Amino acid sequence: MNYNSTRNKNKVVTASQAIAQGISDEGGLFVPQELPSYSMEDIKALSAVDYRGRAKKIMGDFLSDFTEQEISESVDAAYTAEKFGSDNPCPISYIESGSSKMALLELWHGPTSAFKDMALQILPHLLTKSVKKTYSGKEAVILVATSGDTGKAALEGFKDVDGTKIMVFYPVDGVSPMQKRQMATQKGNNVSVVAIKGNFDDAQTGVKKIFTNTQIKEKLAENNMLFSSANSINWGRLLPQIVYYFSAYCDMVNEGKIALGDPVNVCVPTGNFGNILAAFYGMKMGLPIKKFICASNSNNVLTDFIKTGTYNKNRNFYTTISPSMDILVSSNLERLLYHLTDGDAEKVSSWMKELSENGSYTVDDAVKAKLQELFCGGFCDDDNTKKTIGSLYENENYLSDTHTAVAVNVYEQYVGTTNDTTPTIIASTASPYKFAKSVLSAVSSDKLPEDEFAAVEELSAKTKTTVPAPLAALKNAEERFSFSCEVDEMPQTVLSGLKIV
Ligand SMILES: *Cc1c(COP(=O)(O)O)cnc(C)c1O
Repeated sequence: MNYNSTRNKNKVVTASQAIAQGISDEGGLFVPQELPSYSMEDIKALSAVDYRGRAKKIMGDFLSDFTEQEISESVDAAYTAEKFGSDNPCPISYIESGSSKMALLELWHGPTSAFKDMALQILPHLLTKSVKKTYSGKEAVILVATSGDTGKAALEGFKDVDGTKIMVFYPVDGVSPMQKRQMATQKGNNVSVVAIKGNFDDAQTGVKKIFTNTQIKEKLAENNMLFSSANSINWGRLLPQIVYYFSAYCDMVNEGKIALGDPVNVCVPTGNFGNILAAFYGMKMGLPIKKFICASNSNNVLTDFIKTGTYNKNRNFYTTISPSMDILVSSNLERLLYHLTDGDAEKVSSWMKELSENGSYTVDDAVKAKLQELFCGGFCDDDNTKKTIGSLYENENYLSDTHTAVAVNVYEQYVGTTNDTTPTIIASTASPYKFAKSVLSAVSSDKLPEDEFAAVEELSAKTKTTVPAPLAALKNAEERFSFSCEVDEMPQTVLSGLKIV
């Protein structure tokens, strides 16, 4: 299977090229030329094997220039019980009341307590193998823009991986105290972390610009290095995420919640549109998903897009208690548009050009109709996010993080307006302890402690739940990174960080 660029249909690359490069030269994203198709018999066969077995089958169908052994090695190294707490890295918690039927797919049992681990524990294996195949002998320089969770998960995945260096940029005031602490204390000899004086979109645009800057790329080439990306613009990030939607469906069948062939909905707290897009690929491959519910916080650019067909990032940017969704430019939407236009790269390019020049574009009626047939958007502000955390805890004894609560709230709005009782997979994307203060304030009326770790301890005492060990260990960890720079200093920071000025 080969891959095209969303902005140039004539560009054809192999899986390993797509993963090694991360993004296409002209700024487009790599998309598979065709998708494998799974019958109910195939899904039944997947139900009979464990998570690693499911991952090997599905990823094998996409990574045609990898050997079976390479895929096996990667999967077995990534999804261990040691890293994810059990042989099933993403267990489901069911909450059913009245017409709402939620299957909370807990994707945060990995080393950094966010769903990003599901992809970033395996990406370094896929990436180093890809680089070996296509650019043998080169060192991969991974640049990451993060709204908080990707950065830490990528650092943890790539730390001390031979043949790689990783540099993470995060918005100085745009991440939670726990996220900042996780990154500032990162161990490893090939890692660096930089705060930028801007928001996530500035960080992401800055990184994309560095990737496509010919001068900088030449400089890297002279030093036997190449850039790659650990953001969800990289196909190697999206592919592992398709696996868990299949796996969740299989688990629901095995656990008697649905019968094989029954439809489900999927509801995802969305930022860069990677997670929900992985579910869309699952549907294209044969998973019976009826509706995609795209949940946003007050940065509701996607809610408006789904409703109107106009994407407009010219609006207020809000810093919310669900910071990993504080995004106004959702990169992976570009891939969805490519598929909804049946691969019209020219159209996609022109919309992306309008977006970068004017901050907005409007899709045509045919695309809008397809979009609305499959997707439904909604949003939830901070007050309602806290109310949802409070009521989930009071009524269901379920402790949810802020991002997951946004999804639950939007799902409840959806059920309220549609009466659709289809069982719904809700992506539960982070441990509540990553956002301890906000979560504590939602479940307790006591005065909040100033210190983040005091909030962690109080949350644990109050709810009798366990703090994930890596988060607890941060309290006494040594801080290594406190460097910050202006957005326009990012290219220079990269070059000096690599010592190739
Ligand atoms: C990254 C992240 C999201 C958003 O996921 P996208 O794939 O960017 O849409 C939601 N919740 C949490 C906790 C995250 O870390």
